[in-house]
Amino acid sequence: MNFNTQLATLGGAFKLYAKRLQKLGIFTVNDLLYHIPFRYEDFSNISKINRLSLGEITTLQGKVTEIKNIYTKNFKKIQEARIADETGSVDTIWFNQPFLTRVIHAGDEISISGRADWYNRKVSMVSPQYEIVYEKDNLGNFKTIHTGRFVPVYSETKGVSSKWLRRQIYKIIYEYKLIQEEYIPYPILKDQDLIGINEAIEQIHFPNKLEQTVKAKQRLSFDELFLMLLSAESRKKNWRKILKGKAFEVENFKTNISRFWESLPFDLTNAQLKSIHDILADVSKETPMNRLLQGDVGSGKTVVATIIMYLAFLNNMQSILMAPTQILAEQHFSTISKLLSPLKISVELATGSVKPKNKFDILVGTHAVLSEKINFDNLGLVVIDEQQRFGVEQRAIIRKKGDNPHVLTMTATPIPRTVALTLYGDLDLSVLDEMPKGRKFIKTWLVPNEKRENGYKWMEKELKENNSQAFIVCPFIEESESMTTVKAATKEFETLQKNVFSNLKLGLLHGKMKATEKSKILEKFRKNEIDILVATPVVEVGIDFPNATIIVIEAAERFGLAGLHQLRGRVGRGEKKSYCLLFTESLNPETKQRLTAMEKIHNGAELAELDLQLRGPGEIYGTVQSGKRVLKVATFSDLTLIEKAKSEAQKILPEIDKYPILLAKVQNTNAKEISPD
Ligand code: ADP
Ligand code: MG
Repeated sequence: MNFNTQLATLGGAFKLYAKRLQKLGIFTVNDLLYHIPFRYEDFSNISKINRLSLGEITTLQGKVTEIKNIYTKNFKKIQEARIADETGSVDTIWFNQPFLTRVIHAGDEISISGRADWYNRKVSMVSPQYEIVYEKDNLGNFKTIHTGRFVPVYSETKGVSSKWLRRQIYKIIYEYKLIQEEYIPYPILKDQDLIGINEAIEQIHFPNKLEQTVKAKQRLSFDELFLMLLSAESRKKNWRKILKGKAFEVENFKTNISRFWESLPFDLTNAQLKSIHDILADVSKETPMNRLLQGDVGSGKTVVATIIMYLAFLNNMQSILMAPTQILAEQHFSTISKLLSPLKISVELATGSVKPKNKFDILVGTHAVLSEKINFDNLGLVVIDEQQRFGVEQRAIIRKKGDNPHVLTMTATPIPRTVALTLYGDLDLSVLDEMPKGRKFIKTWLVPNEKRENGYKWMEKELKENNSQAFIVCPFIEESESMTTVKAATKEFETLQKNVFSNLKLGLLHGKMKATEKSKILEKFRKNEIDILVATPVVEVGIDFPNATIIVIEAAERFGLAGLHQLRGRVGRGEKKSYCLLFTESLNPETKQRLTAMEKIHNGAELAELDLQLRGPGEIYGTVQSGKRVLKVATFSDLTLIEKAKSEAQKILPEIDKYPILLAKVQNTNAKEISPD
């Protein structure tokens, strides 16, 4: 057995359990050892039977003198045992566990942990944890796993109990004595005051004192972050060394570029200028750019991308702008054509249904832009809008299409600094942390159920008075847009049209509609032929309807704050004052606190940080598509540790060849993660 052994191959109990364990993300021996307890039961107080006192949690150890099933009048079964040590004896009771009489026998040495309680008019042990003891140490003390110590409690799944997990982990550590070579270089262990890896694994599961779990957790969290960051740094280094792209000429075109941005109807924000500056520095190098541009909804990412595409054109190179949906692609196509066509730059559109007709300098579209049928003469730049992380295959396709073009990814999803440092460690990051001048914030109200009717009335009046429009976002039911979600939305749409807004014209938009149907509805909405658009939560990120001034979000409590903020950004895009109504039926204090933040905070990054604190990272960034948690021990909220791990990783990277065990570990991590190649 070693750390990488698949549990399924271990036979015995694992044959049956391997499948169940997969639900917990446990496949290998290593995964099992890294299944970290989420709390500990303190059964460390071992006392003699004559010292037992009512209400106390304690461990008693002795001999079973008798055990029997008792049948009560109401057909319940009680298991009653008597346990004795040299100081006395005590009654021990369990309820409805008749098999116990087959497991525990008179004469067995037993250790029980639990609360001393009043039962049958005397102090008894009621429903304690128990284990038969087979082994003693040199001093004659019982060797126990589930009682008489700090006992780890794990997250469980059907058919896998904490007790079972505990026994298996105990076996691996103490019976197989599986140990690993220390892979963190000694100077780092010393500087960061970290304990050894084997000690950490032992103490996270079976601590002698609770303080030990703190040290153990520190070590394991550090490892996790350090290895992740070291891998990212080494990938970044390789990327720089191996990949050769085309350096853009920047100096000679600076006048063209500033003339272009002076022609815009607004002044660029400082944040936009700073990002452009970062990007120009990237593209002037031969190493292809790999930058993430993050900016709140409405912060003006498109114009930044447009300027860089213009620079590509000046360099006689083509650009791609890729959007996640057809609607967004069409919207970008129209914006960019308007901006760049006067400069004799040819912009074409490619979607599932539209193919580029002419030769182009800039191709805007959906994934269709990567279709084999489209050829590029000289692709120099790829801009990816609103896509979190680009898949390996797509990166490879892009690489080939254009001989390592520069890549700029844009997103409105706020990324807390800790997450940027870890998950996006191999990307360079620019942030648009400033909104264009004069943006009004969106007045937000939390609307409890009893005010719903008033809310609707107010909406109708507001829409009529201002000749404006609204979105109503239906409850978020499932992760992806299923038929259940669509049906619920359809029903909501019909009820609202008939019973609530019979004087207004409503439209329905959901993800199961064909792209052409969607375009048609949105076109009607744009022409103000529809007053209220009822939509499922996937209502296209980034759509721009300046005349929409109200957004209602149903069952708001089901969204994260960052998600709500994104949805809210669908309004407030024009001159008129805009509003966001958060409908909710569950107003427990926690939900209320979380949602009221939306009334006060209008900055996406701040809301994301708050989400991270309130809901924990698991909800937001903790899982990747596979459902596997990214971080098992460390948390994204620990900025200090992340920064320490990062600085140690950067320090050690140039001399990593001196540490073969660490190097092997990093290569192993790199092979598993998305690599840039
Ligand atoms: P996002 O970052 O959400 O993609 P957009 O690029 O769509 O934002 O920009 C939103 C709106 O703001 C557009 O209408 C755009 O023309 C406008 N805009 C962009 N930059 C500025 C600026 N510096 N000042 C004023 N308006 C701007
Ligand atoms: Mg955008």
